[in-house]
Amino acid sequence: MPELPEVEITRRQLVPLLVGRLIAAVRTSAPSYFFITSPRVLKRRLPGRRVIELRRLGKYLLADLDDGQRLLLHLGMTGQLFGHGAASVRLLSSTRGAALAPESQTARFSPDRHTHLQLSFADPGPDVYFRDARKFGKVQLLRPGEGSPRLERLGVDALAWTGARLFAASRRRRIPLKALLLDQSVVAGIGNIYADEALFLAGLRPTRGAARLTRPEADHLVTAVLAVLHRSIETGGSSISDYVQPDGSDGTYQDERRVYGREGEPCPSCGTPITRRVIGQRSTHYCRRCQC
Ligand SMILES: [Zn+2]
Repeated sequence: MPELPEVEITRRQLVPLLVGRLIAAVRTSAPSYFFITSPRVLKRRLPGRRVIELRRLGKYLLADLDDGQRLLLHLGMTGQLFGHGAASVRLLSSTRGAALAPESQTARFSPDRHTHLQLSFADPGPDVYFRDARKFGKVQLLRPGEGSPRLERLGVDALAWTGARLFAASRRRRIPLKALLLDQSVVAGIGNIYADEALFLAGLRPTRGAARLTRPEADHLVTAVLAVLHRSIETGGSSISDYVQPDGSDGTYQDERRVYGREGEPCPSCGTPITRRVIGQRSTHYCRRCQC
């Protein structure tokens, strides 16, 4: 599932594909829960508008349009945003991808039934696609000045987090540390992978009660969160299932994971097999010797 680093990389690569361009035409799939704003309204209100900025809030992308409307995009579990010309086997359905010879798997993408939104522009540059095989992604067009409960309930963006804010948010919270990191109303952008990796780096056990965090530990944990997120952005994010960069390339952070998805493998620091436990319905990975 794309988390802050993947969404930030998507944003950076989409900026030249969106910002400054005049939307000429909109194609969509049939109405579904993917569309918070109906395809009919998107097709009426997007053409003729120019994108002036593309911002990220937690795991959301927000395109500001020249008339004050805002286009909200969320990648959900398997969403892919990219430009025409991108090539990756991850942009093909699994049956189609598996049927192709390795050398054909980099064939250029052409819109398929999982392509729910296609933006064409007045200039001859590339179209932009939003593809999502499982449709947990979201598209919403906000009117000028219209608020969004989804955005308003977000806490501070994880890249702007501080030890003081974490410490304040953890007081009297009767939940595990891991659950606090995943609470988007406390800190926006952290998901399962980066929570596990940051807790390992900070030497803190995910099951530890949030209220038992000390002030220095809060600083360590935020430092670890920032290190993990920045390193992932640097390496192009984690391409574990569907995530691709908008140019079709894979991230490589998954190769640097120390604990996430490594149950039973030796801890990179002490060799103890990595433990996996379910916390709040999420798989959680940690070293029971290094993290307390
Ligand atoms: Zn260890």
